[in-house]
Amino acid sequence: QVTVLRLGHRPGRDERMTTHVGLTARALGADKVVLANAARNQADTVIDITDRFGGPFDVASTEEPKRLIRDFEGSVVHLTMYGEPVQDVEDDVRKAHAEESLLIVVGAEKVPFEVYEHADWNVGVTNQPHSEVASLAVFLDRLFEGRELDREWENPDRVVVPQETGKRVVDPDEE
Ligand code: SAM
Repeated sequence: QVTVLRLGHRPGRDERMTTHVGLTARALGADKVVLANAARNQADTVIDITDRFGGPFDVASTEEPKRLIRDFEGSVVHLTMYGEPVQDVEDDVRKAHAEESLLIVVGAEKVPFEVYEHADWNVGVTNQPHSEVASLAVFLDRLFEGRELDREWENPDRVVVPQETGKRVVDPDEE
């Protein structure tokens, strides 16, 4: 089980990024995203995509993200440009994930220091500043070693049929 927690959502500023954290978590193999309560519309968008393109994928919200981190039963990975290089820790994280659940934390604005302290691993996807969406995507792909790319989706209303050129989307019930 892999859960992604999006910290520090600021209404008006972080809306697209929060939506993209949720969509990226879903598309690249996580089981669940937890968003701040203030991110209701973003949660609805991710639920809507899951309804249309398939699941399973859970969307939850929290008013107490620090408590969620503190009480999490499993290992906590905090993605941060200040952390240890992903290529150095990915084997250990993968071993932990084989035994227990994983919580992956990404920020928006400044992340409180206690998150760094509570994390089992603070992980950098490079030690350069970039984005929570990019770091989440690379981290999940490393964690699953690319297997997430071949995932099958359950109960989709629509399925994209890959095309060399153009777009084809089908209703699987009519195929
Ligand atoms: N300035 C903020 C701070 O000091 O915590 C971070 C802002 S950054 C735009 C938002 C989020 O992107 C971070 O909280 C982190 O999760 C992620 N992020 C940015 N660069 C990263 C990197 N090189 N490796 C891992 N995560 C990164």
